[in-house]
Amino acid sequence: MKTEELMTQSDKNIIGTYRRQPVVLVKGSGARVWDSDGKEYLDFVAGIAVCSLGHSNPKVVAALQRQAELLTHVSNLYYTEPQIRLAGMLVENSFADKVFFCNSGAEANEAAIKLARKYAYDNSKGDRYEIITMRGSFHGRTLAAITATAQEKFHVGFAPLPKGFRYVPFNDVKVLEKAIRKKTCAVMVEPIQGESGVQMPSPGYLKGVRQICHDKGILLILDEVQTGMGRTGKLFAHEHFGIKPDIMTLAKALGNGYPLGALLTTDQVASAFGPGTHASTFGGNPLGMAAGIAVLRALLEDGVMDNCREVGAYLRERLSDLKKKHFTIQEVRGMGLMVGMDLTIDGAAIVRRCLERGLLINNAGEHILRFVPPLTISKEDVDRAVEILDEALEG
Ligand SMILES: *Cc1c(COP(=O)(O)O)cnc(C)c1O
Repeated sequence: MKTEELMTQSDKNIIGTYRRQPVVLVKGSGARVWDSDGKEYLDFVAGIAVCSLGHSNPKVVAALQRQAELLTHVSNLYYTEPQIRLAGMLVENSFADKVFFCNSGAEANEAAIKLARKYAYDNSKGDRYEIITMRGSFHGRTLAAITATAQEKFHVGFAPLPKGFRYVPFNDVKVLEKAIRKKTCAVMVEPIQGESGVQMPSPGYLKGVRQICHDKGILLILDEVQTGMGRTGKLFAHEHFGIKPDIMTLAKALGNGYPLGALLTTDQVASAFGPGTHASTFGGNPLGMAAGIAVLRALLEDGVMDNCREVGAYLRERLSDLKKKHFTIQEVRGMGLMVGMDLTIDGAAIVRRCLERGLLINNAGEHILRFVPPLTISKEDVDRAVEILDEALEG
């Protein structure tokens, strides 16, 4: 089928929840993907910060192949070795003592919301269920996750939403402290807000949030679905800020494209999730675990995070150089290879022009471009991407 035909078929048979670019992608390798007409693209979206080791990473592919031939799925009625191994690796390399596996970011956050409530229920008299989240946040698309997402545009038409969420501005510890009341059981925050355009925490903010949660005896949930797994140059973004959460959620890059999510927590908090309290049919299945093991091993052993820090700094430097030339660029910010660029003009038009010239980027918010390439990207690829963006900004 031709590209046009494929797109027509897609619109006919697939519910229109996505605004898609007019390309059909058929294969990928490293930082490159190809469309159905054979055109090559440099990929600075990477499945939205998912394919951090590049497309069709040989180690992840080999791990999936091996595991698919050995054992794909048996349910959590039984122990399986890959699940035990990945949990061990995550625990060894994080603040956490225990892990719960699921299949996506929204699911991981749903589990975090349930766990925080259950922990409060088990450990306090009276109603404590309220979770405070930040304006501009994004936590996923299930009913509880959109309610945790403090942006009204995601709520329209889905009322009634679950009760027990309260919103405060991001980067304001004073308002947060005042908002905490008897009913509050947790605060949930992204270390860097991803979907609203790579919004950075102000200096001392996350430390302040940690301190408040500690003082008030409530849990700190960090949503590291986008910032985790090396994206910012450390395995988890909170390591940059000298804090530890009580609960952390992961997904996106955890499986390099194999759908995989996880909740990590301490022994103490984990005790609230006994048998029968939470579950997932596919969660922790051997295939996903094999992908996760290959990803984590590569991040820890192959110098991927060193490359992320070095090339990330280079990308920000090159983009800042562009700012001197294009007055439509307001700001360049980020950490590692999670980079945002504020524009005075419509981001979608620039995204389209880059696509035509063979570069995939996306806009998070109307006026913000987001760059989240594979962490394995080279400086030459950054040069190429900046060259294309430069042209696209010329109009
Ligand atoms: C992408 C994202 C989610 C949602 O993940 P899904 O896998 O799409 O459910 C949640 N939180 C953050 C911070 C994200 O970036």
